[in-house]
Amino acid sequence: MKYNVAVMGATGAVGNCFLRILEERKFPVKNIRLLASEHSRGKKLKFKGKPYPVEALTHDSFKGIDIVLASAGASRSLEFLPSAVKAGAVCVDNSSAFRTEKNVPLVVPEVNPEKIKENKGIIANPNCSTIQMVVALWPIHRITKIKRIVVTTFQSVSGAGQKKIIELWEQSKMFLAKKKVTPVEFPHRIAFNLIPQIDVFMENRYTKEEMKIGNETRKIMKDPFIQVNATCIRVPVFYAHSESVNIETEKHIGADEVQEILSKAPGLVVIDDPENNSYPMPMLAEGKDEVFVGRIRQDESIKNGISMWIVSDNIRKGAALNAIQIAERLIK
Ligand code: NAP
Repeated sequence: MKYNVAVMGATGAVGNCFLRILEERKFPVKNIRLLASEHSRGKKLKFKGKPYPVEALTHDSFKGIDIVLASAGASRSLEFLPSAVKAGAVCVDNSSAFRTEKNVPLVVPEVNPEKIKENKGIIANPNCSTIQMVVALWPIHRITKIKRIVVTTFQSVSGAGQKKIIELWEQSKMFLAKKKVTPVEFPHRIAFNLIPQIDVFMENRYTKEEMKIGNETRKIMKDPFIQVNATCIRVPVFYAHSESVNIETEKHIGADEVQEILSKAPGLVVIDDPENNSYPMPMLAEGKDEVFVGRIRQDESIKNGISMWIVSDNIRKGAALNAIQIAERLIK
């Protein structure tokens, strides 16, 4: 059986990756409809070697569509996905619009695939930082409960979309040419700098991105008691997010055991050979499907603690790949 698929936000960083991954994984596509803003109407994008025109997104865009892969931002998802559901489509949404809604499954296939069948037309894809973290932490949580997570993220510019990739590129050239750099997309210069702010600040002084990681982790891991303290940093890297993660578990677990468990877990690759300077890095994860884990070690400052370093391509496993894995299970 083949399916009519609409990609909402097809011209964006995630949208483009949707097209590549649908091709790579031979997703059974009957017809594809590419949707973006009015500004991109008529632009042509290639799918399986053939050019397809981009259409402007409207409430009528979903007639005859079976599956919507949405990546056009939260306000577009809020406005248009109810029309897609009305037209009979099932939507996998990359935005934050529905992630914490009670009746919307929030799914990482390596962790809670059983939730997919509970969908009422919308399935939410988690935040990119959350996805790679839970893929690595879930196998440990199943052995001994994780009580607390302290995570610092180092997020690439592509996590904020196509325009931010161009901004880092342009700023780097200007900076190296000793020319004046004026930030447009980011609040500060991102080239040769770090920005300790992703999304807006909340009343409790955390950013929205930092709060999302905790709320989404508890929902996906089905454990309302996990405490999460996150700090999110934007870094001048094009692709792949990195995370320094420290966990406190209920029972003791050794670093060797964690290494062993994670090396057998789905979707994960352990790269952990410090003597040979071998550990995950964004340049190794870029363009790859897996979540990479290394620097696994006992936290010597508490009784039951483990520290590790997690890296994954935010556009692939953090967004498009995870959504397509959900769609694959959906059609199964
Ligand atoms: P992006 O590169 O900025 O792309 C945004 C897409 O949305 C473009 O196709 C754009 O079309 C479309 N769009 C914008 N306004 C629109 C409108 N009024 N009507 C129709 N389409 C509109 O952003 P992205 O990085 O791909 O992210 C897309 C979504 O995925 C966001 O919700 C983001 O939070 C989420 N996400 C991203 C990542 C990541 O790593 N980048 C990870 C997880 C989740 P035009 O080109 O015509 O403007």
